[in-house]
Amino acid sequence: MTIWNLGSINADYVYRVPHLPGPGETIAAASLERGLGGKGANMSVAAARAGTHVGHIGAVGADGRWAVDRLTEYGVDTRWIRQVAEPTGHAIINVDDEGENSITIYPGANRDIPESIVGLALAEAHPGDTLLMQNETNKQRYAAGIGAQLGLKIAYAAAPFSVAAITAIMPHLDMLILNAVEMEQLHSATGLVPGPEMGVKTVLVTRGAEGCVLFDGDNGHDPQHFPARKVTPIDTTGAGDTFTGYVLAGLDRGMPMAQAIDLATRAAALMVMRKGTADVIPDLREVQAF
Ligand code: ATP
Repeated sequence: MTIWNLGSINADYVYRVPHLPGPGETIAAASLERGLGGKGANMSVAAARAGTHVGHIGAVGADGRWAVDRLTEYGVDTRWIRQVAEPTGHAIINVDDEGENSITIYPGANRDIPESIVGLALAEAHPGDTLLMQNETNKQRYAAGIGAQLGLKIAYAAAPFSVAAITAIMPHLDMLILNAVEMEQLHSATGLVPGPEMGVKTVLVTRGAEGCVLFDGDNGHDPQHFPARKVTPIDTTGAGDTFTGYVLAGLDRGMPMAQAIDLATRAAALMVMRKGTADVIPDLREVQAF
């Protein structure tokens, strides 16, 4: 089966600076590293490394060929990534000597994905495939509408959190994945808790080092807790995206939910022990050996 991921692709520019620049200040960075990032790209790489066919639907600018090549190298099917007039989405990340950071994101091409490419990609989808989205692209509602018509399983990672975005898409969702802060934001904005009145069959709330809680309609939405692996974190960036990509890949490959969560928990634990994002997501063999 295929996971169709309508997702962002970012260039992460990481500048090492002696301190974070203040207003009106100009400082020279000691080094620059360029990595592949964006929640969409991270999830595509995770799911592909977990052994599933992933069709990434997205857009980059004229400066983004390298990002597409890297996704291809990591096993993602990139035939539905288009080049558009906007520059590739990017993040300017300043990191100081204490490890403190400040980040500016420019969504660029990620908010300029042509409707036509969403249609072209999903024309090749089959019932039972998964459509995955996050909130870093345009065309989410359009894709969800097509996905629902085609009988795809629709999964949504509710980040960055927006009440408008999540409530627009919620009626179509089979699975919602969000962290504890996002769940709290959703609850305080709408009063909703995971359960029949939310109308989403499966809700998975991640809780960092405490693991995750599953609310599954097949189980009467009773909360089921899954502990995280005990590891010493070095950099938690990308752990959530890796977790999501691995859970969905596990399910796509026919695993029962508990087994998919176990796999994802191990993949995310490996990820918190590594610096970087898409470029360092572990593959299935490493995860199984962990
Ligand atoms: P991110 O930091 O990538 O934005 P997130 O907020 O989306 O993450 P979290 O709930 O922090 O998501 O983490 C997702 C999963 O990653 C957790 O359910 C857990 O399995 C794993 N994880 C995160 N932090 C740790 C940790 N310190 N130790 C072990 N596992 C962790």
